[in-house]
Amino acid sequence: MNFYIITLFPEMFDSYLGESILARAIKEKKIKVTFVNPRKFVSGKYKKVWPDGNISQQIDERPYGGGPGMVMMAEPVIKAVESVIKKVVSSKKKVVRKTKIINFSPSGKKFDTTYAKKLVRPGGYTDIILISGRYEGIDARVDKILKTEKISIGDYVLTGGELPAMIMIDCIARQVKGVLGNFDSREEERISSSETYTRPEIIEYKGKKYKVPKVLLSGNHKDIENWKQNKK
Ligand code: SAH
Repeated sequence: MNFYIITLFPEMFDSYLGESILARAIKEKKIKVTFVNPRKFVSGKYKKVWPDGNISQQIDERPYGGGPGMVMMAEPVIKAVESVIKKVVSSKKKVVRKTKIINFSPSGKKFDTTYAKKLVRPGGYTDIILISGRYEGIDARVDKILKTEKISIGDYVLTGGELPAMIMIDCIARQVKGVLGNFDSREEERISSSETYTRPEIIEYKGKKYKVPKVLLSGNHKDIENWKQNKK
């Protein structure tokens, strides 16, 4: 599974993708994450070369119709996405590639595990482009031109689409075979409960004893499964 993230802040992803299961998944080539900074595609009057040689590329502009905050301009974002699509097409080889373009928005379709599973199922997507907006969002024409799917990760407003991109990658990656040490760890493949216990059997805290539920120590698999079902 190939992820391409269109973001002004690619470094934000380093620590999360650099540790634990996702770092291993990347190392073992189960998933691949590529970053494209749309600022690179800013041109014309928004690209300035200063006397000291520094280059500044402004990507945000005032919204039409007024209102607070700035909006990311469409053109650099479209060009960034096009650069990814060009790469995917030219590397097509024998495998059938299927690309999806997702733009994040708090008012989009709600993301969940069912959606993540649909993306990775056999015959599903091989390449997913995630557009992480900032400021007040991105010029809406991006969605019309690129035919994006608008996705929300929940009913709250964040400062940018970087966390949503990380959440989607995390959730989708654990649906990819070989990413979790034990594929059956995915909760939908086993009887899991939100209540789990490990060693030691008794914890003493402020004079009170906290024990592991007896049934879990019983060795009776049927009883244990029933208990887990009830705790779901
Ligand atoms: N004014 C916009 C909010 C912009 S928030 C509106 O009312 O829709 C800035 C960016 O953060 C968005 O472009 C999006 O990429 C991201 N974002 C914020 N909250 C989000 C959420 N709940 N789900 C997905 N993306 C979100």
